[in-house]
Formats: sequence, C-alpha cells, structure tokens
Amino acid sequence: MRIHILGSGAAEGWPAVYCRCDACQRARARGGRSIRSRSATLVDGRFQFDWSSDAYMQGLRDGVALSDVRHLIFTHTHRDHYYPSELVFRRPPFAHQTLPLTIWADAWAIEGIREEVGELEAANITLREVEPYQTYQLDDAHLTPLLANHFPERICFNYIFERNGKRLLYGQDSGWFPEEHWQAQQGLYFDVVILDCTGGPKDAGQHHGNIDLVIRSKERMIEMGTADDDTLFIANHFSHNGGLLHEELVELLSPHGIDVSYDGMIVEV
Ligand SMILES: [Zn+2]
Ligand SMILES: [Zn+2]
Ligand SMILES: [Zn+2]
Repeated sequence: MRIHILGSGAAEGWPAVYCRCDACQRARARGGRSIRSRSATLVDGRFQFDWSSDAYMQGLRDGVALSDVRHLIFTHTHRDHYYPSELVFRRPPFAHQTLPLTIWADAWAIEGIREEVGELEAANITLREVEPYQTYQLDDAHLTPLLANHFPERICFNYIFERNGKRLLYGQDSGWFPEEHWQAQQGLYFDVVILDCTGGPKDAGQHHGNIDLVIRSKERMIEMGTADDDTLFIANHFSHNGGLLHEELVELLSPHGIDVSYDGMIVEV
C-alpha cells in the first residue's frame, strides 16, 4: 500500500492564509516541510481521502494525475476537506474521456455534491452514501466508516481501509475516539495509522487531537494488540496554533516512534 499525503495542514493551512503570527512567519521563512496545505491523502494512486480547494495544485506539485482517482472518500463537510465545486469540472466541455468516479460520503456531503454538480451522469460520478460500521467494497479494496469525535452538528467519519492484505486506519479529524470506534478496531491489525495532531504540543479541545492524544492512542492500540512496533504511526493535520515547525515536531514525536507528516510525504507498507 502506497500512502501519499497531499495536504498535512489544518483548515486555514500553514502559513494560515491571512495570519501573521510568529508560527506562520517562521513557516514562511523556513519553507519546505513546514508549509502545510489542506487535508487530502492519496492511496495507491486510485483512492483519495478528501478533496479541498488545494487538491488541484497538490496534484501538480507532486506530479500525480488526480484524473486517475477512481474512488473519492470524504471524511466530512468541513471546508478544508470538502470542496464540491471542483467536481463541476468533470463535465464537458471542462473534461473529456473521464474515468468513472465513485464518491463515498455521508448524507450531507452527498446532498451538497448533488446540488453543486447537477448532472451526475455527465460528470461520470456515482454517489454512495455510507453508514458507520458497515463495510463496503471499492473494486479490490474494503472500506469501513467509523464515527469520529469531531463534528457533532453533522457527522465525521474515520475509516478502516484494506487492500492487498494491508490495513490503514484513517483517524482524522477526531478527538479521543468514541468507545464504539475502539471496539470496531478490536481483533484487527493495522499496518498504518494516521492520527489527528491539530494542536501539536497544545490542547486542541475535545474534537481534535494533539501530541498527547497521538501518543496515548498508540499506547492503547498496542495494548489492544491492534498495532505493534512494525505499525507505522503518522501524526497529521497540523495547525499553526500549535506553534512548532516540522523539525520541532519531529524532535518531540520521533522518540515515541511516531512519524510527522508533511505535504508530499509518501510511505509504502
Ligand atoms: Zn480538518
Ligand atoms: Zn498563524
Ligand atoms: Zn473538520
């Protein structure tokens, strides 16, 4: 399984679009891995989690054709993950010879896409509304939505994604997982775990994670036997409000065997 982090930042990006705080000014000066665009992750070149307004440029930046994506999986409808306006450009005359795209998402996301895109057939889109704790087949992969602790007014899904004998836990956006989420992991082994680290070293409130939460989540998974020393743990979705640039985050997380994501990061398991 090849996991490609297209965007590793929180809602406002980092440097945040209008912000002049110290963390943003330092990121502007440092560049490189401290520049974080909005959330999206590509798996095996054909499966994509989330699509923000940054997705088009992320594909160009990393030299990947997002026109090859066959399954688009939305976690939730916060704007840093969900930009349905882009899907309008799947219709002629904006696009020709498109590959079929199946979109997996909650009812709000599905409704928003239907409204925005209109003629789904012309856009070569199939919409699939998903329910938590059901397993769906996406070609040769399996997907199971879990309820995240993130968006009480609507819904946010984390996902278990399985393909070619490898298993990924896509665990953002979320605070500490609800108990039923933990129970759904029971008896499974994860090769890769991506967790929410919005707050960095600071408190991120109830509905996002931070360094402490990522470490405690890893400890719990190892206790449960759902992960071990070979499991790749990746902290992701960083906000400038945490204040620490990439290398500073690495210093704090690497002693715990946790990788720090960055835009363009690719890992293979
Ligand atoms: Zn987010
Ligand atoms: Zn800032
Ligand atoms: Zn969110």
